[in-house]
Amino acid sequence: MSPTTPPEVIIIGAGLGGLSAALDLARSCVRVLVLERHNLPGGFATSFKRGRFEFEPSLHELGASPAVDFLKEALPDLTFCEVPEAYRVILTDEGVNFRAPYGPAEFTQAVIDATTCDEKPVRDFMEICAKTFDAFAYLGENPRPNPKVLTGRFGDFLRTGASVPDEVADSVGLPVEARNLIYPYWCYLGVGTHRVSFSIWGSLIHSYLKFGAVIPSTRSHGITAGMATAIADNGGRIRYNAEVRHVVTKGKRITGVSLADGEQIDCDYLISNISHHRLFGNLIDKPPRRSLKLLNARSRGMSLFVVYLALDAGMEEMGFTDYSYFIAPHMNTKDLEAKVFNRFDPEPMQASICLNAADPTASPPGTTILSITVGTRAEAWADVTPQNYHREKMRLAELLIDQFERATGITLRGHIEEIETAAPPTFSRYTGSWDGSVYGYEPEPWDGILPRVLSQGKERFYSNLRYAGGNAYRAYGYGSSIMSGRSAAESIMEAKK
Ligand SMILES: Cc1cc2nc3c(=O)[nH]c(=O)nc-3n(C[C@H](O)[C@H](O)[C@H](O)COP(=O)(O)OP(=O)(O)OC[C@H]3O[C@@H](n4cnc5c(N)ncnc54)[C@H](O)[C@@H]3O)c2cc1C
Repeated sequence: MSPTTPPEVIIIGAGLGGLSAALDLARSCVRVLVLERHNLPGGFATSFKRGRFEFEPSLHELGASPAVDFLKEALPDLTFCEVPEAYRVILTDEGVNFRAPYGPAEFTQAVIDATTCDEKPVRDFMEICAKTFDAFAYLGENPRPNPKVLTGRFGDFLRTGASVPDEVADSVGLPVEARNLIYPYWCYLGVGTHRVSFSIWGSLIHSYLKFGAVIPSTRSHGITAGMATAIADNGGRIRYNAEVRHVVTKGKRITGVSLADGEQIDCDYLISNISHHRLFGNLIDKPPRRSLKLLNARSRGMSLFVVYLALDAGMEEMGFTDYSYFIAPHMNTKDLEAKVFNRFDPEPMQASICLNAADPTASPPGTTILSITVGTRAEAWADVTPQNYHREKMRLAELLIDQFERATGITLRGHIEEIETAAPPTFSRYTGSWDGSVYGYEPEPWDGILPRVLSQGKERFYSNLRYAGGNAYRAYGYGSSIMSGRSAAESIMEAKK
């Protein structure tokens, strides 16, 4: 597409969702223009350098899913490293130190072997998770599902559709001892097991266990830079340093966008890869009342605080044995979730990643990269000023390093060659996310995947508007963002027909 040809489709944002949509559209010869406020593609899916190290800012693991198949097909030069095991969970108050293997059967057996629980409730619970995953797969393949198949094969899926994981665990009598080992992935959704949609949670754990997970050997920047190149190769365009300031509407249609310098660009379709709060709250004059009501009804997902460390010794010398460490005092997720409002809770739940355990070449020989991540909320940073921001970030970093050292017995201090931190203001500044939220909208049962799919049409508000990315109907995460971008592209191609 030449720089002067008017686009058919404009995409606001070159995050994973926007880039995936653009790639599919460009490959289908649709004239697509991505407008990105930053000077790089990727949004959260990027990388940054400090000293002799290139850090991964966000990705812990990318479930080996259709999204990975898409990346492998579209970007054949991209290489992935397999994550070696599901996770190690260390619960300091409970005396738990458990390594969770991949494989639904292996995982279930490991939980049974590591606890005094009866086999049946553990097997029953994991079986319902598997059925939930299978039901989503069936729905994905059958846009007009057969009600008899749904009620017959996927009765558990229908029965648990409005439930949360705690209710399903109660219904099969799953003891706390087993929940301690099964629940840690809750932090990837950022919503406790007392209120997250079971369907999405059960499907997530089963999919990680069944297919395992990967990371790109080039950090996430390798994925998004590759996508940007592929878009250009297929005739699509991306303009960087191009912040959309205004979305122009006429009746029930979007007619174009305007940029910071006043330039106006018309389009037939718009894909939003940004927060609905930004789109309807900042960019559209007089948005439909229902769009604002929906925003107010939804719960904004949590933000994160991350400490990125480069260590001057190799992972074996340091004593790392695992890739993914979930560390917490216990696994009462309601209590753990409440901690995100307290910046200095001494015992939060942290999710830490030793990159070299999956990718031995992630850093120069004789060094290790470790990131420590904890959930937080913008509210917990309300008292921080520009003057004390740096000091407060370092205080929290110290606390998390302490917690990691105590729980694992690995001494980090004395080996730290580089240290960097990211807090809600970092994420907000970097991607424009609302209040630094990195987790879109919380998938509680009333706002889970099924209700979102069923109300997609009603939630567009403009006939030629589509959503892609972590704020869209599939919820957040790399895989979901990529697949929702592809769905947005497909929906536009169908509408064009
Ligand atoms: C620390 C951290 C750890 C994570 N770990 C994982 C993990 O292990 N596994 C996983 O699956 N997911 C993980 N995630 C979540 C995952 O990164 C996100 O869900 C996903 O990257 C969101 O992609 P997106 O398509 O919504 O785009 P975003 O990354 O939100 O990008 C949006 C883009 O839009 C641009 N933009 C915003 N406003 C405008 C405007 N007005 N005009 C033009 N451009 C604009 C931004 O600059 C940005 O580039 C993590 C996130 C973080 C921060």
